[in-house]
Amino acid sequence: MACCHYYAPTEGGDTAFMVDTSTIVFGPGVLAEVGDHARALGMRRAALFTDAGLAGLAHVAIVRRALEDAGVDVALYDAVRVEPTDDSFLAAARFAAEAAVDGFVSVGGGSVIDTAKAANLYASHPADFLAYVNAPIGGGQPVPGPLKPHIACPTTCGTGSECTGIAIFDLLAMKAKTGIVSRRLRPTLALIDPTTTYTLPTAVVAASGFDVLSHALESYTARPYTSRPAAARPSLRPQSQGANPWSDSGCLAALRLTGEYLVRAVSDAADREARDKMMYAATLAGLAFGNAGCHLPHGMSYSVSGLVRDFRPDGYPEGEPIVPHGMSVIVNAPAVFRFTAQACPERHLEGAACLGAEVRGAGPDDAGEVLAGRIVELMRAAAVPNGVAGVGYSEADIPALTAGAFPQKRLLDTAPRPVDEAALGDLFAAAMRYW
Ligand SMILES: [Zn+2]
Repeated sequence: MACCHYYAPTEGGDTAFMVDTSTIVFGPGVLAEVGDHARALGMRRAALFTDAGLAGLAHVAIVRRALEDAGVDVALYDAVRVEPTDDSFLAAARFAAEAAVDGFVSVGGGSVIDTAKAANLYASHPADFLAYVNAPIGGGQPVPGPLKPHIACPTTCGTGSECTGIAIFDLLAMKAKTGIVSRRLRPTLALIDPTTTYTLPTAVVAASGFDVLSHALESYTARPYTSRPAAARPSLRPQSQGANPWSDSGCLAALRLTGEYLVRAVSDAADREARDKMMYAATLAGLAFGNAGCHLPHGMSYSVSGLVRDFRPDGYPEGEPIVPHGMSVIVNAPAVFRFTAQACPERHLEGAACLGAEVRGAGPDDAGEVLAGRIVELMRAAAVPNGVAGVGYSEADIPALTAGAFPQKRLLDTAPRPVDEAALGDLFAAAMRYW
């Protein structure tokens, strides 16, 4: 195992790690299996969640037909909001409660899967909306019992939401992104069909591919689980438990795949091998970050996307401005890894090597620069925006960006180096532009 000393015991630190996963079925054409799996999970009437853009496409038709052929009634909900909000989560939960379903099937990207998780939660265990939301923004209450079965069918190769117990949304009143985190939210089964990525717009593949890259790098460089204070009870051990030997192997494999295939998957829509490999990389990285935790690039991304003014990228629904999730993450990443490298330089160098950087002759002091340099090379090759300024911000926005990101305690605490508000502001300043 690489750098075993990373997991040296600490006073009061945890001495074990825990692995949670959904059951995973991965392969071309597996969407057509959904009916049999739904029946096996006891579903007789399922809520089928998707968004308006996907509702008319073949993936949803295939899933619907397979469910109906297996004798499962379908209640279609195609009003999922891309980048969901507290309002859109609650609307979905009302639908689920009124439709009297006994299970959920979601077909789409992270927004769709997260909305199905939230609808399942609030329809199964009604509560004040903020009760389950992460503290300190919400009450951080544990989910009181199991949810109904949920089959998640991702159609983008990025979020990994199909394997995690995390649902992310914009809290409108605070103009801030936050989330609900509980292993009860994790889908029961993930049906991952790489052919769903063949028709994705280039910009969507780029944004989701950089999300994969950052999930893997953040989880690999997260603070070690042994340095996190042990939970009061073993069953309360958090999902964001820190880097651990199990997540490490998924991260490294995902980074190697991303280094080799991300730019290919973006630059040639006909390169099916590259898109298949990115889908598998997304799965591996999703499993890893669901059991380790992301840190600063994701923590900072919440204000980058939440405070959006007029950025409208190609390949996304027209109308409302949006900084797609993966894009809002990667614009912070080079600045973050320059900053965190001193905490575990060998991990930063190893991550860079997996991504294809030349690391011969590089020492611990070079680690941050080598890794940041390779990420910037990949960003330029895939034509993603140049830093936080590239998605519409300027130096004048740094206080607001910092104020929006600082409450993301779950993520900030997983970083390998502590950050106070001033350090976070410096990171946004360093992330403004890279070339
Ligand atoms: Zn992400």
